[in-house]
Amino acid sequence: MEFDYLIAGQGIAGTLLSYSLLQAGQRVLVIDEHKPNSASRVAAGVINPVSGRRFEMAWMYDQLYPFAVHTYRQLEQLLGVPVFRERDIWMVLPSEQMRAAFQAKTSQGAARQYTQPANAALWEAWLHQPYGAALVKGATVLLQHLLPAWRAYLESRRCLWPERLAPSLLQVSDSGVAYKGAKARALIFCEGAQVTGNPWFGPHLPFLLNKGEVLKVHIPGFDSENIIKRSITLVPQEKEVYWVGSTFVWDYPDELPTAGKRAFLEEGLQQLLKVPYTVLDQLAGIRPSGKDRRPMMGLHPQYPALGVFNGLGTKGCSLAPYMAHALTQHLLHGKPLLPETDIKRYFNG
Ligand SMILES: Cc1cc2nc3c(=O)[nH]c(=O)nc-3n(C[C@H](O)[C@H](O)[C@H](O)COP(=O)(O)OP(=O)(O)OC[C@H]3O[C@@H](n4cnc5c(N)ncnc54)[C@H](O)[C@@H]3O)c2cc1C
Repeated sequence: MEFDYLIAGQGIAGTLLSYSLLQAGQRVLVIDEHKPNSASRVAAGVINPVSGRRFEMAWMYDQLYPFAVHTYRQLEQLLGVPVFRERDIWMVLPSEQMRAAFQAKTSQGAARQYTQPANAALWEAWLHQPYGAALVKGATVLLQHLLPAWRAYLESRRCLWPERLAPSLLQVSDSGVAYKGAKARALIFCEGAQVTGNPWFGPHLPFLLNKGEVLKVHIPGFDSENIIKRSITLVPQEKEVYWVGSTFVWDYPDELPTAGKRAFLEEGLQQLLKVPYTVLDQLAGIRPSGKDRRPMMGLHPQYPALGVFNGLGTKGCSLAPYMAHALTQHLLHGKPLLPETDIKRYFNG
């Protein structure tokens, strides 16, 4: 079987890269073992223009966001499922200083167009918010719809092998790759956190993986369209059900949910909510973050038939569409990658 590209992994990276290559008329085979707790399956899919205690604009947001909206809308049309939703982020300000910092930052500069003060009375009966709240224009990618719908689309076109790609069975030459009867010009690894075990890329790329845990909770009577953010973030799922996250741990013995992080998330919930809730589920996943918090993509300098698309860290949903397109342009037309995303920065250094 002849393909143009093989892709290992169908998280948000493999999904957007396979979409971009198919759009460009390439023949693609995606090989994915379907890990239920992959980062993309645990994530809430939030896109937030500002981050941190200083309300700084996210990196390249003015380019990334419009491209993401356009791409997710196209996917929505193609797949016939809801994929993208613009949502205001109701940011509960935790102190007087934070309120002043928010006002100073958002009264000028780029963050201004994405933010506005909020009428705190709206959620007064539900939330503790003595220092008020602010509204930030954000969005959610509905990963729980997008990932299975894209998988079904690939299956229907015979472009998906539901299995783990075993590196020992891969034949690599300068002109291409062969894997169990499938031949292609190149294989692009979109393995998320599992890339650290990849024999070609793992040893070269400085990953700083971190584990995140989340809860799914039911809050009777509380039906918000907004994402609610304080020390924790509540993201609406179905009616009265919220994703609550998340934690960051760089040193962890395994990928399993822990009692300690459940207690931490519940403490955040109790500080925020004036009403009772029930925990329905707890999940944990590993974020594929790099040391400089930038994507890692490109072809291997010594094995030009092998490539990688990774390092999406905490922002897979805003980064993946734009970066997948940039990688496609690089693969098909030799267009240079942004230096801060190109893996050459590690192979040369
Ligand atoms: C708790 C938590 C909350 C998050 N919240 C958000 C958020 O709100 N917004 C946001 O933008 N980002 C969020 N993120 C980050 C986001 O999830 C990641 O940036 C993104 O999912 C990374 O996608 P990926 O495709 O690179 O990796 P993954 O999602 O890990 O996907 C990798 C895929 O490759 C497969 N695979 C790996 N190796 C092989 C192999 N050898 N053969 C076959 N298949 C293989 C795996 O089974 C998996 O399906 C969150 C992450 C976590 C953990």
